[in-house]
Amino acid sequence: MKFENSIRFAKKLDSQDPLHAFRTKFHLPKLKGKTAIYLTGNSLGLQPKSTRKIVDEELSDWAKLGVEGHFHSKRPWLHYHKFSKSSLAKIVGAKPVEVVAMNQLTVNLHLMMVSFYQPTKIRFKILTEAGAFSSDQYAFESQAKFHGLDPEKAIIELTPRNGEFTLRTEDILQAIDENKNELALVIFGAVQYYTGQFFDLEKITKAGHEAGAYVGFDLAHSIGNVPLQLHKQQVDFAVWCGYKYLNSGPGGLAGVFVHEKHAADFELPRFAGWWGHRDKERFQMKKGFKPMRGVDGWQLSNFPILPGAAQLASLEIFDDAGINNLRKKSISLTSYLEFLLRSIENYNEHFTIITPTNTDERGCQLSLLMKKNGKKVFSKITKAGVIADWREPDVIRVAPVPLYNTFEEVYRFSEVFKIALL
Ligand SMILES: *Cc1c(COP(=O)(O)O)cnc(C)c1O
Repeated sequence: MKFENSIRFAKKLDSQDPLHAFRTKFHLPKLKGKTAIYLTGNSLGLQPKSTRKIVDEELSDWAKLGVEGHFHSKRPWLHYHKFSKSSLAKIVGAKPVEVVAMNQLTVNLHLMMVSFYQPTKIRFKILTEAGAFSSDQYAFESQAKFHGLDPEKAIIELTPRNGEFTLRTEDILQAIDENKNELALVIFGAVQYYTGQFFDLEKITKAGHEAGAYVGFDLAHSIGNVPLQLHKQQVDFAVWCGYKYLNSGPGGLAGVFVHEKHAADFELPRFAGWWGHRDKERFQMKKGFKPMRGVDGWQLSNFPILPGAAQLASLEIFDDAGINNLRKKSISLTSYLEFLLRSIENYNEHFTIITPTNTDERGCQLSLLMKKNGKKVFSKITKAGVIADWREPDVIRVAPVPLYNTFEEVYRFSEVFKIALL
């Protein structure tokens, strides 16, 4: 599409946007009494207006029914983990048996590594991107140590070529091949949190499997942001959090994908709890853990109803909007943002967009590497009513989210940003 740098054009795009009305389903934060330009759905997604209602319903059922709510509430608590399956499955390209909402992201990452990181004397390496989110780094490091390994030797971190900011797929594939005899696990942030790079999951998974390793992804910045095809692409496992693009609330409920091919593999090592035990016998409280088929067999504890209810409110909106429609809008919205930023005179002197320009290699986020006065620019845009995200040492991340951000906001952000650079 040919873009124009004007508020009129931005408004025209909004008027043609079939998803425009979804914005009214969210509470929009304010700064100094005015609706903020909120570009941080990659950090904390906004609250759907329907969240309060559904959480209230559970609170009322709890008040009215007490423990009987497990069976007799509107959405019986006993089965709550099943209610989000079909929505989550659509978002990540999976079958319902492959996805479940549970725990928090880092907890889930550890649980998955218990099953899918089984180092041997020969095959013990983890291959990942350099500069992964700290929590993921700590998980990898502590898992290596847990198995008696030296993290320095066990973890391979890939860095971009000199002068480049993101990894080339060909370099990732080559690194997998070069380490093929020693690789136990290949794991990447599907969309890298700092650069916004969306990796080629299909090629990485195929190469990892050819090398004889398991392949997993951290979807923190990809779930609800880009459509995924985890089942078709044969990914072994994935983990995510619920509070970013999934709008499930601060510290919201996270989730896990385990491919169907592992559904009945009860020999995989795993940490167990009663909610993963075969549900027909769960309440017999007997000795001897027998996991449920599929990802449900990785559940530990009974389901947290209030965070689960909040998540259902948001998933209903995703069902209505459709992840592919969202992606379509997202590509235009972020491309428009990129167009406007590149229209700023001498923008190269002020910042570099380190997120790939190819729309297949990114989601909605753009990461702006500031060349001078980064923190000052950031504080100026904040004063002007923009909620964006500063990442040390020198990156501003902005993520127009197709569910609730508009082309007009993107335009207004670019104007504010241009003035802040002066
Ligand atoms: C947001 C994020 C986390 C946060 O982990 P929690 O367990 O949810 O606190 C971890 N990893 C990545 C890649 C993230 O983007």
